[in-house]
Amino acid sequence: MHKETARLIELDRAHTLVAHIGAVLSWDQETYMPPRAIEERSDQLALIEGLAHQKAVDPEIGELLAALEAKDDLDPVEKAYVRVMRREYDRETKFPEAFVTEYAKAASMSQAAWAEARKNNDFASFAPHLERMIQLNREKASYLNPLARPYDVLLDLFEPGSTRASVAKVFNVMKSYLVDILGRINACPQIEDKCHGLRVDRDVQEKISRYLMKVLGYDRARGRLDVSAHPFTTTLGADDVRITTRYLEDYFPSSLFSTIHESGHALYELGIDPHPEYRGTRLAEAASMAVHESQSRLWENIIGRSHAFWEHHFPAVAALLGEAGENLDLDSFVASINRVVPSLIRTEADEVTYGLHVIARFELESALFEGNLKVQDVPEAWRAAYRELLGIASPDDRNGCLQDVHWSMGAFGYFPSYALGNLYAAQFWGTLRAQLQVVETRIAAGETRCVLDWLRTNIHQRGQSLTPGELVETVTGSALDPVWFERYLREKYSRIYGF
Ligand code: ZN
Repeated sequence: MHKETARLIELDRAHTLVAHIGAVLSWDQETYMPPRAIEERSDQLALIEGLAHQKAVDPEIGELLAALEAKDDLDPVEKAYVRVMRREYDRETKFPEAFVTEYAKAASMSQAAWAEARKNNDFASFAPHLERMIQLNREKASYLNPLARPYDVLLDLFEPGSTRASVAKVFNVMKSYLVDILGRINACPQIEDKCHGLRVDRDVQEKISRYLMKVLGYDRARGRLDVSAHPFTTTLGADDVRITTRYLEDYFPSSLFSTIHESGHALYELGIDPHPEYRGTRLAEAASMAVHESQSRLWENIIGRSHAFWEHHFPAVAALLGEAGENLDLDSFVASINRVVPSLIRTEADEVTYGLHVIARFELESALFEGNLKVQDVPEAWRAAYRELLGIASPDDRNGCLQDVHWSMGAFGYFPSYALGNLYAAQFWGTLRAQLQVVETRIAAGETRCVLDWLRTNIHQRGQSLTPGELVETVTGSALDPVWFERYLREKYSRIYGF
C-alpha cells in the first residue's frame, strides 16, 4: 500500500466517525427523543453535518487522490478505493457554496409546500416548487458533468454507471412482462386475505419480529429492533447496525415484513468487509442503493414470502399468534401474503405491481428532464400512466402524483433503484439456486444460514470494491438481465393463481 493511501484512509476514517456520531443523533430523534428536544437536536445535527462536510472536502484529500491517480502501480483494492474516494470527493467539492445554500433552502421550502399540497390535494400550489427543484437539479448535474445529459448524471448519483438509456432498456422489457402477468392474474379468481382484520397485540408482533431476526442470522449483539413511524435501517458503526419496524394492530404482516426487509438491509451492512486494512472507510459501504434494495427484497419477498420458508416457520408464528391465528393455516397464510392487487399507492404495492409504479415515475421524470413534459401537465400524465400500466387511476392528486416525498426533495433519479433492486435480487437468487443445490429444501428444513453465507461471500463482503455492474457480472456471469425476475414471477404466480 502506498503511503498516500494510508493517509487517505486515516482522513476517511475520521469522516466516518463523525458521520456515525450524526447517525446516533438521527436514530435517537426517530425513536426515543422527547418531542420538545427537537430544536437543540436540529442544531446538534447541523453542527455534526458541517463537521462531516469539512472533513470530506479537506484539500489534502484532493492532493492525495491526484498523487495516487498519477501512479500506475496501484493494487486492485487501492484502485477501487481511489475510484470510490474520487467520486465522493467530487460530489462534495464541485458545487459552489452559494449553490449548496440555495439548494438546501429551496428543498426545505419545497418539502413544506409538498406536505401542504398533499394535505389539501392542491397540485397547483406545489407546481412552482417542483419547477424550481427541476431547474436546480439541472444545475447540479451541470456542475458534476456539464457534457452529459442532466438526467443521466442524476441517475448515476444513485446507481453508479447507469444512464436513462440503460435503465429504459431493462424497464421496457420488465414493463411488458409485468403487464402480461398482471393481466393473467386479473383473469383468475382473487385470493382472500385471511390476515386482514386479525387483531394481534403489539407485544406478540414484537415477539414474531425477534423470532424472525434470529432465524435470519441477525446478530443482536451487533444490532437492535425499535419502533418508528417509517421503518428504516441505520449504521452507527461497523458493529452497530439497527433497524426499526412499526406495528399495525389489525394487520400483523406489516410489521413482520418490515422487520424482514430491514433485517435484509442490516445483514448487508454488517457483512461488508472488503479488506481488513480498509475497515471504517468508504470502501466498506454498500455498492449502490439498488444493490442494497436487492438484499432487503431478497429476504422479504423471495425467501420471506415463499412457501418453503413458511413450511418450517409457520408453526412457530402460529403458536405466537395463539387464538388470533386460529383460522389461519400454512396455505391460506402463504396465499394471503402473496395477493396481487393493482393499487394507487406505491408503498402498498405487491411484488408484481410494484415495478409498474416505479416505471411510471421513471418515465415521467425522464420526460420532465428531456423537456417532453411540462410540470403543469404532470397530474394528467400521471393518471394516463397509471391507466396504461395498472388499469386504475386516482381521481385526486393526493393519491396520485403528490403521494411521494422524493421529487419535492429534488431526489430525481432515485426511484429506479427500487425496481432495479428487484431485478438484481432475482438474478442473484437464480445464481444462488444454481450454485447451492436444493436450496428450497434446505430452507423448508429451517436452514437459511447457507443463503446468508452465500450472500456474505458473493455480495456483502465486497462493499464498494466492485461497481454494481461489475458485481452482477462477477457474481452471476452476465450483465443485469430482467429475464431472471420474469422467470421467478411466472413460476411463483402461475402456481399461486393457477394460470
Ligand atoms: Zn429498503
